[in-house]
Amino acid sequence: VVFNTCCVRENADVKVYGRLGELKEHRKKNPKGMVVVAGCLAQKDAESLRQRFPQVDIVLGTHNLKTLPDAVENVAATGRPELRLKWGGADLELSASRRGLITASVPVSMGCDEFCTFCIVPFVRGRLKSRPLENIVKEAEHLVKRGYREIMLLGQNVNTYGFDLSPRVDFGDLLYALGGVQGLQRIRFTSPHPKDFSVKVLEAVRDVPSVVEHIHLPLQSGDDEVLRRMRRPYNRSEYFDLLTRIREMIPDISVTTDVIVGFPTETEEQFENTLELVRRARFDNAYMFAYSARQGTAAAKLPDEVGEEARYQRLYKLIQTQNAITQEKHDQQVGRSIEVMVEGPSKKDPSRLTGRARSNKLAHFVGSPDLIGSLVHVRLTEAYLFGFQGELVGELAAAG
Ligand code: SF4
Repeated sequence: VVFNTCCVRENADVKVYGRLGELKEHRKKNPKGMVVVAGCLAQKDAESLRQRFPQVDIVLGTHNLKTLPDAVENVAATGRPELRLKWGGADLELSASRRGLITASVPVSMGCDEFCTFCIVPFVRGRLKSRPLENIVKEAEHLVKRGYREIMLLGQNVNTYGFDLSPRVDFGDLLYALGGVQGLQRIRFTSPHPKDFSVKVLEAVRDVPSVVEHIHLPLQSGDDEVLRRMRRPYNRSEYFDLLTRIREMIPDISVTTDVIVGFPTETEEQFENTLELVRRARFDNAYMFAYSARQGTAAAKLPDEVGEEARYQRLYKLIQTQNAITQEKHDQQVGRSIEVMVEGPSKKDPSRLTGRARSNKLAHFVGSPDLIGSLVHVRLTEAYLFGFQGELVGELAAAG
């Protein structure tokens, strides 16, 4: 059993520990079985993992994933546990993870050089390391040949892609190069940093037909002092100016964001500044979180001046505010026909199909399963917080 873990949020840690506990008896009954914990949590908690869960046979840090086959052979031969936590051997050429048969996730870089004070990523995934541009383009071509229609480019701070390459490459160069891959219908990317948006990236989103009109622009806080304490190198007005520029350049753009409320020193007034900015920014949607301390980060050393109750009250208020905006924006789209990539049967109602708009929103409609993998036009008939109901208007491009 292999757990490939993330530890950005505390919940993910808790889940893995719960599952490991459940496996204890199972492991005893299967002496030849193996339990592997790989990725961020393994990197962060290697020693305590082995002490708390002796049923774990292999612990693989973030830069050691490619050594899994070798570690398995060693454990099978010696019966002794393997702990591999070395830095520097990360293999970004490991094949992409796939969502269904339509979208493939393609890592373009690993690690991050920012050290935002609330974030554990630089400690568990290391410094920025980018893949050569040609390798990513080749992988995209290969994926298209295998039938994939869409790729999601992944990086912890995706728009710093190429800053460490020599000669330096702009993330926009990668988007333009991937725009030339025949048969690749859609390109998405996440997560960018507001400070690293080059003009070339925005031009690529505007001009390259396969790059979709969706930008995730993490805000984190709408208060200048909190942003400074988070070590986010922009202020609220710079953020808002960037958002305005993006919307001027790409009028149909869908913009989503991340917001953390209840940072340890956040006052009620500072939280209100975030709410005010969220109201003004009118994001299409947001991932909203109550701050949770990650041991080892600078913010975890700050005294908690907020408290859990106030933290969750603020989160509730923020969610109410953003949800009302999302619903309002969705209502305005009813009656429009949009391009949708058909992903499969709807999870809630398998008699309908689910497709994804270029904006990343979901639409559900009646149609033949033969349409899965195709681009179709759907007229939106009803709006919800999490998407739309619609009617099939016609097919734009058949499945490959
Ligand atoms: Fe973490 Fe993103 Fe900040 Fe990097 S830029 S430290 S990944 S929050």
